[in-house]
Amino acid sequence: MAKDDFCEMLSRSTPGPGDGGNTGSWRVLRPVLNAAACIPVKTGRMSCFQCWLYCPDCVVSKTIPPTIDYDYCKGCGICAEECPAGAIEMVPEAEAGPLAKEG
Ligand code: SF4
Ligand code: SF4
Repeated sequence: MAKDDFCEMLSRSTPGPGDGGNTGSWRVLRPVLNAAACIPVKTGRMSCFQCWLYCPDCVVSKTIPPTIDYDYCKGCGICAEECPAGAIEMVPEAEAGPLAKEG
Protein backbone atom coordinates (compact mmCIF):
# COMPACT_ATOMS: atom_id res chain seq x y z
CA MET A 1 0.00 0.00 0.00
CA ALA A 2 1.39 3.37 -0.97
CA LYS A 3 1.96 5.90 1.79
CA ASP A 4 -0.60 8.30 0.33
CA ASP A 5 -3.22 5.56 0.22
CA PHE A 6 -2.69 4.93 3.92
CA CYS A 7 -3.16 8.63 4.68
CA GLU A 8 -6.46 8.58 2.79
CA MET A 9 -7.66 5.79 5.11
CA LEU A 10 -7.22 7.83 8.26
CA SER A 11 -10.46 9.03 9.82
CA ARG A 12 -9.37 12.65 9.75
CA SER A 13 -11.58 15.50 8.65
CA THR A 14 -9.95 17.84 6.20
CA PRO A 15 -11.69 21.22 6.18
CA GLY A 16 -9.72 23.98 4.56
CA PRO A 17 -8.06 26.51 6.81
CA GLY A 18 -10.51 29.13 7.88
CA ASP A 19 -13.65 26.98 7.78
CA GLY A 20 -13.99 27.79 11.48
CA GLY A 21 -13.22 31.46 10.92
CA ASN A 22 -10.25 33.66 11.53
CA THR A 23 -9.14 33.55 15.16
CA GLY A 24 -8.55 37.26 15.46
CA SER A 25 -7.06 38.44 18.74
CA TRP A 26 -8.94 36.27 21.23
CA ARG A 27 -6.52 33.28 21.41
CA VAL A 28 -5.22 33.01 24.98
CA LEU A 29 -2.46 30.43 24.49
CA ARG A 30 -0.18 30.09 21.47
CA PRO A 31 1.39 26.76 20.48
CA VAL A 32 5.10 27.28 19.95
CA LEU A 33 7.14 24.58 18.24
CA ASN A 34 10.60 23.70 19.48
CA ALA A 35 11.90 22.36 16.18
CA ALA A 36 15.00 20.88 17.80
CA ALA A 37 12.78 18.44 19.70
CA CYS A 38 10.47 17.60 16.79
CA ILE A 39 10.80 13.99 15.60
CA PRO A 40 10.72 14.64 11.81
CA VAL A 41 13.30 17.38 12.20
CA LYS A 42 15.55 15.13 14.27
CA THR A 43 15.20 12.09 12.00
CA GLY A 44 14.71 13.76 8.62
CA ARG A 45 11.79 11.41 8.04
CA MET A 46 8.14 12.12 7.27
CA SER A 47 7.00 10.45 10.46
CA CYS A 48 4.96 11.30 13.55
CA PHE A 49 2.86 14.38 12.63
CA GLN A 50 0.44 13.77 15.49
CA CYS A 51 0.09 17.56 15.64
CA TRP A 52 -1.09 17.59 12.01
CA LEU A 53 -3.38 14.64 12.58
CA TYR A 54 -5.17 15.88 15.68
CA CYS A 55 -5.44 19.62 15.08
CA PRO A 56 -9.22 20.19 14.83
CA ASP A 57 -8.71 23.26 12.67
CA CYS A 58 -6.27 21.60 10.25
CA VAL A 59 -3.81 24.45 10.57
CA VAL A 60 -0.65 22.40 11.14
CA SER A 61 1.31 21.55 8.02
CA LYS A 62 2.70 18.10 7.31
CA THR A 63 6.15 19.45 6.57
CA ILE A 64 9.61 19.36 8.10
CA PRO A 65 9.38 21.24 10.36
CA PRO A 66 5.63 21.47 10.84
CA THR A 67 4.26 24.99 10.70
CA ILE A 68 1.18 26.43 12.37
CA ASP A 69 -1.14 28.93 10.69
CA TYR A 70 -1.72 31.31 13.57
CA ASP A 71 -4.42 33.19 11.68
CA TYR A 72 -6.72 30.24 12.31
CA CYS A 73 -5.16 28.39 15.27
CA LYS A 74 -7.60 28.56 18.18
CA GLY A 75 -5.05 27.78 20.88
CA CYS A 76 -6.86 24.66 22.05
CA GLY A 77 -3.61 22.89 22.97
CA ILE A 78 -4.48 19.53 21.46
CA CYS A 79 -1.31 19.51 19.36
CA ALA A 80 0.80 20.03 22.47
CA GLU A 81 -1.07 17.29 24.32
CA GLU A 82 -0.64 14.80 21.48
CA CYS A 83 2.99 15.54 20.64
CA PRO A 84 4.97 12.51 21.89
CA ALA A 85 8.18 14.52 22.03
CA GLY A 86 6.91 17.46 24.03
CA ALA A 87 8.00 19.69 21.18
CA ILE A 88 5.04 22.06 21.37
CA GLU A 89 4.61 24.41 24.30
CA MET A 90 1.47 26.44 24.94
CA VAL A 91 2.66 29.95 25.74
CA PRO A 92 0.38 32.76 26.99
CA GLU A 93 -0.18 35.21 24.14
CA ALA A 94 0.82 38.08 26.40
CA GLU A 95 4.25 36.49 26.85
CA ALA A 96 4.72 35.06 23.35
CA GLY A 97 5.56 38.33 21.61
CA PRO A 98 4.47 39.58 18.22
CA LEU A 99 4.00 37.15 15.38
CA ALA A 100 6.30 37.45 12.39
CA LYS A 101 4.61 39.02 9.41
CA GLU A 102 4.63 36.98 6.22
CA GLY A 103 5.07 38.24 2.70
S1 SF4 B 1 -3.51 24.83 19.46
FE1 SF4 B 1 -5.28 23.67 18.59
S2 SF4 B 1 -5.89 24.84 16.77
FE2 SF4 B 1 -3.82 25.53 17.31
S3 SF4 B 1 -2.43 24.27 16.08
FE3 SF4 B 1 -2.67 23.26 18.10
S4 SF4 B 1 -4.36 21.78 17.80
FE4 SF4 B 1 -4.45 23.26 16.09
S1 SF4 C 1 3.65 15.79 17.09
FE1 SF4 C 1 5.48 16.80 17.93
S2 SF4 C 1 7.24 15.55 17.29
FE2 SF4 C 1 5.47 14.94 16.04
S3 SF4 C 1 5.65 16.19 14.16
FE3 SF4 C 1 4.32 17.32 15.60
S4 SF4 C 1 5.69 18.68 16.73
FE4 SF4 C 1 6.98 17.13 15.73
